[in-house]
Amino acid sequence: MVQVIYHPEYLSYDFGAGHPFSPLRLAMLAELLEELDPQWSPLAPPQASREDVAAVHAERYLRRVEAAGRGERPRDLLEYGLGTSDTPVFKGMEEAARWLVGGTLEAARVLTAGRARRVLQLGGGLHHAQFDRASGFCVYNDLAVAIHHFLAAGMRVLYLDVDVHHGDGVQWLFYKDPRVLTLSLHESGRYLFPGTGGVFEIGQGVGTGYSWNLPLEPYTGDECYLDVFEQAFSKALAWFLPDVILVQAGADAHFLDPLADLTLTTRAYEQIFGRVLAGAGQYTDGRVVFTLGGGYSFDASVRVWALLYFLLHDRKIPNNISETWRRRWQERLGRELSPALHDPEGPLPAPRKPEIERYNRGNVQRLLDVASKYLTAD
Ligand SMILES: [Zn+2]
Repeated sequence: MVQVIYHPEYLSYDFGAGHPFSPLRLAMLAELLEELDPQWSPLAPPQASREDVAAVHAERYLRRVEAAGRGERPRDLLEYGLGTSDTPVFKGMEEAARWLVGGTLEAARVLTAGRARRVLQLGGGLHHAQFDRASGFCVYNDLAVAIHHFLAAGMRVLYLDVDVHHGDGVQWLFYKDPRVLTLSLHESGRYLFPGTGGVFEIGQGVGTGYSWNLPLEPYTGDECYLDVFEQAFSKALAWFLPDVILVQAGADAHFLDPLADLTLTTRAYEQIFGRVLAGAGQYTDGRVVFTLGGGYSFDASVRVWALLYFLLHDRKIPNNISETWRRRWQERLGRELSPALHDPEGPLPAPRKPEIERYNRGNVQRLLDVASKYLTAD
């Protein structure tokens, strides 16, 4: 059983025209799925409560977000990561952020109640939000709220983050917790925000060994990505034995993304999602939750997430995108959109290939060497 979760109120999380984290991506996606799938019927979640959010964020931070959302401007907003060019404040921001949290929390509830094994939250994935600070377009950490719910239900959580940026907010919130294994694959912090996510950030205290990072070189490409992903993901499953997998499915590792350079194609995304579903089938009785995340090419992100939708339902991937949808959005955005869900076949530029492969494979080896000391008996 698959459950898809979506609420039109997600579109109110809007930093304004020109900001990369545009709600139009969600509007496009929902309209496309509605046109491609006659059975489209997402569940509308309730908004998260203040108490839900307070499970993972500081009270002093909540008060700043609430004030900013009412249009007030406390003088110390910047100390809380609010009012920056990345995360500007806007009227209604607090309410909007709680709608996104509500969807991801509802996904966790649906799963723990046994109402579905595969759940797709068509929003959220705000992985940079910290305990007491907004960061990188993220106000409230919906993923952390969902993990908190899983932990309360006695479940061990494998958190997989394939967004091109390091999943730092989730990592730090559970850095000392051995019930959560975080695995983040991202473009190396040497080149990209937020700068963290090195191989040797492996957790702290009893959580040591439960924070896994694979920093990757620009132009990593499909083949090398899939290779190191398989090595890390298969060991994470086998050594950690999770009860549930939570995936932040950011689409900004795609080659069309304007903010990053990992250069994946939709084919790699199909493989990644397929591997996660197979891993869930083998280790967690099929229990998996996907959220969205970053992804700043309108064209690529919507196609990656539409693919995810069809894979999750074990349905055939439609060859072509709806023409009426495509024409409508091309006109609205003033830019060309791809006619098919998958990228066309053909090679992408792959500079420094041997050097990049050596670097990435060295990193996955270092990660597994260190983690094996903590997670395996042999
Ligand atoms: Zn990202």
